[in-house]
Amino acid sequence: MKVLLVGAGLSGAVIGRTLAEAGHDCRIIDSRSHIGGNCYTERDPETGVMMHVYGPHIFHTDDEEVWNYVNRFTTFLPFQNRVKTTSQGAVYSLPVNLHTINQFFGKTMRPDEARDFITEIADTSIEEPQSFEEQALRFVGRDLYEAFFKGYTEKQWGCSPTELPASILKRLPVRFNYDDNYFFHRFQGMPRDGYTPMIEAILDHPNITVELETSYEPAMADEADHVFWSGPLDGFFDYRLGRLGYRTLDFERFTHEGDYQGCAVMNYGDRDVPYTRITEHKHFSPWESHEGSVCYREYSRAAEPDDIPYYPIRMVEEKSLLSQYVELAQATPGVTFVGRLGTYRYLDMDVTIREAMDTAGSFLSGASMGKTM
Ligand code: UDP
Repeated sequence: MKVLLVGAGLSGAVIGRTLAEAGHDCRIIDSRSHIGGNCYTERDPETGVMMHVYGPHIFHTDDEEVWNYVNRFTTFLPFQNRVKTTSQGAVYSLPVNLHTINQFFGKTMRPDEARDFITEIADTSIEEPQSFEEQALRFVGRDLYEAFFKGYTEKQWGCSPTELPASILKRLPVRFNYDDNYFFHRFQGMPRDGYTPMIEAILDHPNITVELETSYEPAMADEADHVFWSGPLDGFFDYRLGRLGYRTLDFERFTHEGDYQGCAVMNYGDRDVPYTRITEHKHFSPWESHEGSVCYREYSRAAEPDDIPYYPIRMVEEKSLLSQYVELAQATPGVTFVGRLGTYRYLDMDVTIREAMDTAGSFLSGASMGKTM
């Protein structure tokens, strides 16, 4: 069968590989000049530092099959994300843990004492938090919320945390011990040579051809038996119902001799600092040694039509537009919409790979029954 995959990011690569191994002929196109989508990494020509060109990507998963899958294609080295945050003139540890709480309140509490203390200052009158703000007030109380979450979130999402869903904050834990690992998954690491060689290796199969700087034309679909679309969902339909909102990121690059901030990611909780965080890329590869350092100041804003989309906004108005596009997508035979942009969801890399494996699996079982969905 001839399959066209639009987008050479994680979704396109994993689906393409699975179908190629099952004997199908996979043509993968991407409008950008490189593979890997927003996971793309490359060495900085000046310093040699491995750069996460589209912002930090840290691999973490609880899914053993996904972990084995990525390890088939590259060598992962241990990496744990230990994020710091600067707020009101001091540096704290994230996610909020016993160290953060003791430092912030100038105390020396043990775990149970801290738990009781937070319960006292939290707004327990909120039974079922609906918004981001309610979720934060319910779980950490106003002081920690204002120091670490309110300003950051206003900058990141460009709106008040009262308008955002509680689910965004549910990504972050509160810990009553000194564990400052940002993620709690069993498997965590960073590909030794960046993500690009890993995705190259996934794409390296005789049944796969990759064409870069190639935009999708409807005529291409006529030559294929099936299309997997990992571009923007609304883009497939020429934005005919309107545009789904995204946040995009601007990175302001600067270099520094030696070590600029001593960690990979420093968040900035204060509203009057215009950027959300600074990433110092050489700390993503602690096994390498570089004299020079490259950092990105990261600014978030509403995406304009030509900007690279990063975070789907999914507010109330987007949700109703989304359901109309989903209806259109379901009524489009021969096309499967996949990945972060194709399904308009905020997906971590491991979830993207899991879904791609499952999508390819069900396509193959359908194809063996003579259906192309
Ligand atoms: N967040 C925050 N303060 C921080 C870090 C995160 O308020 O210092 C909020 C913010 O709204 C963000 C959400 O928590 O969008 C999820 O954070 P995560 O670190 O998972 O975001 P990502 O690194 O994926 O952008």
